[in-house]
Amino acid sequence: MDKEELAPHVEEVARVLGEKADKEAIEKEMETYLTLYRVSLETAKRSIVKNFGGDPNALQKGTRKTVETLTGTEQSVDLMVKVLTVNPKSIEVGGASKNIVYGLLGDETGTVPYTVWETDRVQLKEGSTVLIRNAYTKEYNGSPQLNLGNRATVEVTEESLTVVGAPTNSVGSREAKISELGEGMNYVIVSGKVVSLEEKEITASGEKKNILTGVLTDDTGSVEFTVWGQTKLNKDDEVRIIGAYVKSWRGMPKLNLGDRAEVQVLDKGSLGDLTLTKVQTLEEIERAGGAMDTLVRGTLVDVREGSGLIMRCPDCRRVLQKSTCRVHGKVKGVDDLRIKAILDDGTSSLNVIFAKELTEQMIGVTMDEAIKLTTEERNPDLIKEMAEEKLFARSIEVRGMVRSDDYGPMMIAKDVHFVEQDVREEGAKLLTELEGFN
Ligand SMILES: [Zn+2]
Repeated sequence: MDKEELAPHVEEVARVLGEKADKEAIEKEMETYLTLYRVSLETAKRSIVKNFGGDPNALQKGTRKTVETLTGTEQSVDLMVKVLTVNPKSIEVGGASKNIVYGLLGDETGTVPYTVWETDRVQLKEGSTVLIRNAYTKEYNGSPQLNLGNRATVEVTEESLTVVGAPTNSVGSREAKISELGEGMNYVIVSGKVVSLEEKEITASGEKKNILTGVLTDDTGSVEFTVWGQTKLNKDDEVRIIGAYVKSWRGMPKLNLGDRAEVQVLDKGSLGDLTLTKVQTLEEIERAGGAMDTLVRGTLVDVREGSGLIMRCPDCRRVLQKSTCRVHGKVKGVDDLRIKAILDDGTSSLNVIFAKELTEQMIGVTMDEAIKLTTEERNPDLIKEMAEEKLFARSIEVRGMVRSDDYGPMMIAKDVHFVEQDVREEGAKLLTELEGFN
């Protein structure tokens, strides 16, 4: 460590000691401790303060935090973490090459990527639990990243930590299906087909930059992705993405490929049939918070208020109350038809909205017929009542998009069908098989 790097630490010790010692003496002591005694910077500082009769506890300390509470703006933070992965890398800094180490750390609350900038000062060993002091964080593509710079110290401890979200294989990532992606996941491996792809120009920190966005699909669902780095992708490619991370928007997970993400292009067809066939439980949906495209199955346990024939504002499509739009006042409404229902599968329940076409399909009445019937019967609730009668306690399989808001997750249905028929068929098939044994 050279004089320039030591300067802020000398300053700090001098601040604590006040009149007790001058900077020159402190600097000399510091060099002795670091080069002769080879102690850590933190120990050196504490010892020097003590030697000159000062209070070592007056030295600036980082705030102890858990991984989950990192914001990406910490200037000095302490963490007790397990070292999950250690990857050396050579980078170019100002035309010269520099060795750094990057990887993943974790505690009971989650995992965080890290970078060690001074590899001769700080060495981390995979699997060890360490107390890191005076690290700092920066936000990178919306997630905090931990940096161990020239002030950071590392102490190996004997404590054992159970890490949440720890990678399960040696590469340092974990393989996930698209339906399993959830907010805050780091270094995931996910395979799928690029079903759409688009180049977008964005402005980040005042600079124009081209990014790729698209949709990746597997047999459990679809997810939007953004490529922030240099990775090249093509539409219809079947790929294995290594080291991506997940951020959610309104509960809907989005996959991000940063500079460290790696893409392997697979042979066409190697992922097999990517038709969405895997049914998610509502508990899984609730845990994920959302999904771009998902399949669920359950029983309709309630047809909610606001179902049936409704009037919408012609300008903003908001539902009218007594011919009045919340924004546009009294307007001539446009007819619409929908069902708001609650689906339950035994693991949890979910609000589902069926728009006009699906409502027509489910209750077997077109919107024009619905308007005619409602007028004839002079009963504005007629369609809702019909829906209740037709749908209550029916089992359905429904595909759609799930988003979360203050009221929890909500599905916008894209496709629906009743499943009783299937159950009956399966029952008949089973019975035939059983009879075959007799
Ligand atoms: Zn309006």
